[in-house]
Amino acid sequence: MIAQPKASHFVDGAYVEDTQGAKIEVIFPATGEVIAELHEATPSIVDRALASARRAQAEWARVRPVERSRILRRAVDLIRERGEELAQLETLDTGKPIQETRVADWPSGADALEFFAGLAPTVTGETVPLGQDFVYTLREPVGVCVGIGAWNYPSQIACWKSAPALALGNAMVFKPSEVTPLGALKLAEIFVEAGLPAGLFNVIQGRGAVGAALVTDPRTDKVSLTGSVPTGQKVYAAAASGIRNVTMELGGKSPLIIFDDASVEDAVGAAMLANFYSTGQICSNGTRVFVQKGIKTQFLKRLKERAEAITLGDPRKDDTQLGPLVSAAQLDKVMGYVEKAKSEGGTLVTGGKRAPMNDGFYVEPTVFADITDDMTLAREEVFGPVMAVLDFETEAEVIGRANATEFGLAAGVFTADLARGHRVIGQLQAGTCWINAYNLTPVEAPFGGMKMSGVGRENGRAAVEHYTQVKTVYVGMGPVDAPY
Ligand code: NAD
Repeated sequence: MIAQPKASHFVDGAYVEDTQGAKIEVIFPATGEVIAELHEATPSIVDRALASARRAQAEWARVRPVERSRILRRAVDLIRERGEELAQLETLDTGKPIQETRVADWPSGADALEFFAGLAPTVTGETVPLGQDFVYTLREPVGVCVGIGAWNYPSQIACWKSAPALALGNAMVFKPSEVTPLGALKLAEIFVEAGLPAGLFNVIQGRGAVGAALVTDPRTDKVSLTGSVPTGQKVYAAAASGIRNVTMELGGKSPLIIFDDASVEDAVGAAMLANFYSTGQICSNGTRVFVQKGIKTQFLKRLKERAEAITLGDPRKDDTQLGPLVSAAQLDKVMGYVEKAKSEGGTLVTGGKRAPMNDGFYVEPTVFADITDDMTLAREEVFGPVMAVLDFETEAEVIGRANATEFGLAAGVFTADLARGHRVIGQLQAGTCWINAYNLTPVEAPFGGMKMSGVGRENGRAAVEHYTQVKTVYVGMGPVDAPY
């Protein structure tokens, strides 16, 4: 066991263990080895986490915003100082190549903490003049926030949720995915070292039932989930019984539309980033690549050449570009979609097989052409390195087809005609869009989905809305005019 943490949970400023909780084995996806053993939170751990968060939040809400920011800034420095060590742990936890975890995961988490540390002291209410009387508003914290994470960007998700929550005066109880439980514990350690008071950021482990216990507890004021649509439906419904505030970051089946005037080289590069980065396990991936007929042959030829040059391998090695999927279950699911695409008539351009390496959960980078809108590969989220290429002829046609999905997380357009780029994006039903770029998600920009892909936004100023609540204060300046 090479990544065993000091204990399973981090509650009220310290590691805690309760071996009564069911076991969770952490598996290194590149080899199938067990690298750590943890336990699910028992009801007593859940209770301690929420109680400490409640207590700590009441005091934290009274701390000056600049002082809260100073603590978060120190956490940013610690994350950056330990960047290499944290990247290595993230690679063990997720199987993602070290060349990605060094630049994307924790670095993006540190950016979020830095951004919200800077923003929090500028968050103010407004005054509303009413002649003699007036109203002022306060933006108060929501209270105790529960964060529930997915396994694809575990440490980034923990940071993206805790950064606005803590900066704006809330406490958080975070439950990582049971598949990737390690990074969030490091974040909890770093926060305490940076001076964050005990209880403000607790990490407890567990499967869905532990998440459900957190969501329905009366001490929980808000729930922020990153996960699949079916989980989102359950969590949203459970939160509704207590009229709890929610942020839902869910799945997608996003269109990436490539017009025939676009640079083929750029479009191929973007389509590969949109399907193969993090072994295709990214919610906003452009997994329906619509290519205008005039450049189809050229596009597929270049895509095949570049996909076949990708270096698969041990994610701990510097030159590995594509690692394994996160788990054996995910491997089975992805291979099921590959077989279905073949049987439903997709043309396999490249890949399509497991890549057996050290018992890891590897799949070759895979491209299917001639996918039609009714095929499973065009409708369901695969979450693996499997690209579906669809043909189209006209702008109006592709807009209609791109929108014909229950999801609305992301969308991209490649064209040399910027007027067309804006016109098309203006008609796409998606919360996060790109023109001549794909999957760039700087923390300065709001991120989130429309339709079944989510509620609320993370990052950017927009997140302030979701981690504060408005208090309206009417101030009467004259005598009370009562009719009795
Ligand atoms: P998942 O839905 O299986 O699990 C997400 C989290 O919810 C896990 O921590 C899980 O333990 C917890 N959970 C499960 N049932 C629960 C319940 N009833 N109550 C409370 N918590 C419960 O998702 P996953 O397989 O971990 O992640 C992949 C999915 O996440 C994909 O659909 C992907 O698109 C989505 N995702 C979305 C974003 C985004 O920002 N929009 C980012 C990353 C991943």
